[in-house]
Amino acid sequence: MGNSDRINPTVDDVIDEARKYIHDPISLTLIERAANYASVHHAGQFRRSGEPYTVHLINVAYILATLRVGPQTIAAGFLHDCIEDCGISRDELANEFDEEIADLVEAVTKIGTLKYKGKDDPEYQAANHRKIFIAMARDVRVIIIKLVDRLHNMRTLQYQPEASQKRISAETLDVYAPIAHRLGISSIKNELEDLCFYYLNRDEYYHIAKLVETKKAERDAAVTRMISEISEMLGEHNIQFRIFGRSKHLYSIYKKMTTKHKRFDEILDLLAIRIVTRTELSCYETLGYIHAKYRPIPGRLKDYIAVPKPNMYQSLHTTIIGEDGKIFEVQIRTEEMDAIAERGVAAHWRYKEGVKYDARAEQKEIESKLSWFKNLTTYSEGENENTSASEYMEALQHDVFSASVYVMTPKGRVIDLPNGATPIDFAYRIHTDVGHTAVGAIVNDAMVPLNTELHTGDVVQIKTMKGTGPSEDWLKFVKTNQARNKIRNYLTKKETEQHESRVPEGEKMLADELRKRGFNPKDYMERKKIESICKDFRVNNHTELMYGIAVKSINVTSVCERLTNQKAHISEEAALSRVLGKEVQHRSTKSGLIIPGIESMKMSLAHCCLPVYGDPIKGYITKTEGVKVHRLDCPNIADAKTRLIDVQWDEGDSERYYDADLNVIARDRSFLLTDVVTVVSQCKATLESINAAVNHDTLLSTLKMVIRVHNIDHLNNVIANMRKVESVITVERTAH
Ligand code: MN
Repeated sequence: MGNSDRINPTVDDVIDEARKYIHDPISLTLIERAANYASVHHAGQFRRSGEPYTVHLINVAYILATLRVGPQTIAAGFLHDCIEDCGISRDELANEFDEEIADLVEAVTKIGTLKYKGKDDPEYQAANHRKIFIAMARDVRVIIIKLVDRLHNMRTLQYQPEASQKRISAETLDVYAPIAHRLGISSIKNELEDLCFYYLNRDEYYHIAKLVETKKAERDAAVTRMISEISEMLGEHNIQFRIFGRSKHLYSIYKKMTTKHKRFDEILDLLAIRIVTRTELSCYETLGYIHAKYRPIPGRLKDYIAVPKPNMYQSLHTTIIGEDGKIFEVQIRTEEMDAIAERGVAAHWRYKEGVKYDARAEQKEIESKLSWFKNLTTYSEGENENTSASEYMEALQHDVFSASVYVMTPKGRVIDLPNGATPIDFAYRIHTDVGHTAVGAIVNDAMVPLNTELHTGDVVQIKTMKGTGPSEDWLKFVKTNQARNKIRNYLTKKETEQHESRVPEGEKMLADELRKRGFNPKDYMERKKIESICKDFRVNNHTELMYGIAVKSINVTSVCERLTNQKAHISEEAALSRVLGKEVQHRSTKSGLIIPGIESMKMSLAHCCLPVYGDPIKGYITKTEGVKVHRLDCPNIADAKTRLIDVQWDEGDSERYYDADLNVIARDRSFLLTDVVTVVSQCKATLESINAAVNHDTLLSTLKMVIRVHNIDHLNNVIANMRKVESVITVERTAH
């Protein structure tokens, strides 16, 4: 690789380079002080090449200066290894220089502490990516320093043993080159890729290098001819421009050949020319002249000036056929666009003399230019210990980096989303709370269902309502991992809370049952003892077991027996069977209900309150129709204490449906009925009947409906979602 003949810059070269755009003497002194400090503290340290360690630091600072970063960043470039290699503390750096430099160096040091074990260790890779992205979300300068550090290490990789060369190259290709690409720093990305290519696949590298060399003279001649033709033409039109041929880097040729299955000549036959003009207008003017003279290939004109790429890249691209039938790719852009194409974020971040550096303001500005960067920030803010590194990376990879739909907030902020994303995905991207309290979506001025698929260019606004929460149903249609994880976390938390609230009830029921059987609850209800029997009831912990007892999904009698290790109910049953003269069984009845200890009893669900599976219930012994089962809170059984009997739901029959009466009151509006009905079907419930009436004085609509559901959770889900429908005021179950 021809990099060993690169001449190492000196500290003076760094200062000279900085002086080209930094004029403030205090800033220049700061850079010099950092250089001196580094040379004192790294004195006596050497690199594998045999050169003093400072050579590496000066190179890093020099490359940073060519990227036109601020003086603090160049200083941090000189100091970036001194915490790790000289045992200097962050605070010492803060005292010697300032907090900002100390923070930068500390952040760069932290990124480097994980050891790369290769692609076979996905957790490592994810963890490392996460570190980098989180650091980057806090301050992009950290990543720029890290990239430049890696670039110089790659340039000097020939001094490392072969195993290290391969490991470092693999990591660079997997982690650093893609980051450089995201940030639009193509000069660094291309150089990193070619260096990695050389170390990872030397045969292919030389093979392609040779192919490129073979017809080089012929291609160069064609390009030169085209350049002079275009130059002459543009000169006649008084356009100021620079024009040059450009060569593709080897790795990009290799990638095109392998991933797009193109032959080498198909790629290299494309000759490439770049024209750099003064103004945006002259870019379009130039394009006009070129298309007037040469035939463009249809479908190849790309206007990245009007619609920049997500990494800020701007340019006009066209492909034309030259006079001798050769095909040319032409890029047309301004000087500023060219700088951004080469240096990306770094170019945008060009140091502005006299403007005090404000990391937060700069970060905000970057976010406004790089829409994915803002998304990255929101991802990294929501980071917590609950998500694993691979979850974080998967979410980032899928939701942000593979984004293909670009929608906008009403204020014009661009949000990148994966294909098929919905308003709920959008809402969670804006803010977790917006997602949690979303009740409606307006897309391009029209109200749409929350599961509507969004398209590029849509302007999306989310209606929220305090006190509402996400619905389990959303999980069925959301496309981003971010939304899915947040909804799940919310639901799990809510469920736990709900379970916890019923624990005392379950505990009391169990204690009562134990007492009834002559046991002292204190002896049996220690948490440890309870936990030890949980798995027999297919629950995970004490809370779930007590909840199960409270809602009667777990039989308190069985828990009692299991705890006291005796078949108490057998003896009870034995007593009963003596009376009845036959075995007593707990057999489920057609109604899906059981009366503990009693085998056959005609039972049916009361029509007044329509209990559904899982409701707290009570049986009412009728004179002729056996036991009618009511909801515990049904007003019709409130005064009938003496005729009531305990009943339980039998083991759930998942096939069975239960009718439920709902009463919905809402402010009347068009499509109200449609929206309410949509909720029923989205929740996979069945609508049996619906009846709507509007009070013309109050303009309130009353919808009475009967729906069929599997169980109480299912019903509650329908109700919760119905409450989120716009203009709905109340949703109640009724009893009559
Ligand atoms: Mn270093």
